[in-house]
Amino acid sequence: MSSQRDQLICNARDCFKKIDDVAWITCCSHVFCAQHGKDAKLRQTGSASCPACGSRFRDDFGVVERNLNSSPQYRALLLCGYSPEVIMEIANNAITFWNFQKQQVCLNLERKLEYYRESVSRLKKEVAQEKSDAESKTNRLEKQLEQAQTRIKELSEENAITSREARGEHSRMDHQARKRKMDDFLL
Ligand SMILES: [Zn+2]
Ligand SMILES: [Zn+2]
Repeated sequence: MSSQRDQLICNARDCFKKIDDVAWITCCSHVFCAQHGKDAKLRQTGSASCPACGSRFRDDFGVVERNLNSSPQYRALLLCGYSPEVIMEIANNAITFWNFQKQQVCLNLERKLEYYRESVSRLKKEVAQEKSDAESKTNRLEKQLEQAQTRIKELSEENAITSREARGEHSRMDHQARKRKMDDFLL
């Protein structure tokens, strides 16, 4: 089992699947999972271009299928028979491909990091705006509550004055009525 650092990641847009069995490798140093590699192979016979960068495949070796878990016996003989120059050329190409893929992973992580930073910054602004809106609304409601309490106090005071006045008028009328009765009695 290879560690995460040694894994290839599919270069198809929005895929980023880890590849640990079959890889499809292009002449432009891109790599695809089984599904996207087949798409690239189909493209080779059609529009003949890489799904990741659009480079044109000029021949049958534009995209090749590679089993990453080939047996040690198979690998032992893989480069046998070639001259040291050819072996070094193949090894150099393979290392250049590997370095390019690791750069792609770093770039992708940096893009993700930037995306998360922007998301956090946007969320912070939204939360600050919501907090400010809630504070304004609370202040407005507190003012309305204060005004309502003042109005209730004014109304209850007016009500008390009206009641006192009504009671005073009533007792005056009682007094006049009693006086009239007394006058009638004396006559
Ligand atoms: Zn893929
Ligand atoms: Zn490409």
